[in-house]
Amino acid sequence: MERMNKCRYHPDRDACVVCQKMEVSYCQECLDNCRACTDPCLYCKFRQGCVIWELCRREAKKRCQEKKGGPEKGKKGGEG
Ligand SMILES: [Zn+2]
Repeated sequence: MERMNKCRYHPDRDACVVCQKMEVSYCQECLDNCRACTDPCLYCKFRQGCVIWELCRREAKKRCQEKKGGPEKGKKGGEG
C-alpha cells in the first residue's frame, strides 16, 4: 500500500484518510462533511486510532440517532 489512494466519492482526488475497517479512502472534503464513515452506528475496532472517527464522532452519533428515529427508552448510557 505504497501508492496514494483515491477518494471513494471523488476518484479524481487523492485521499487523505483511510477507513481501516472498510479499507476505503476519502478526500479532505469528504472528511469535512463526515461522509468518511460508512457505518458510524456499527462497532469498529479501529475507532481508537481512527482519524475519521476522531473528527466526526459527534456528527456520526447525531446521524446515528436520527437514523434510529424516535425516542428509544430502556437502553441508557454508553460510552461517553
Ligand atoms: Zn471525496
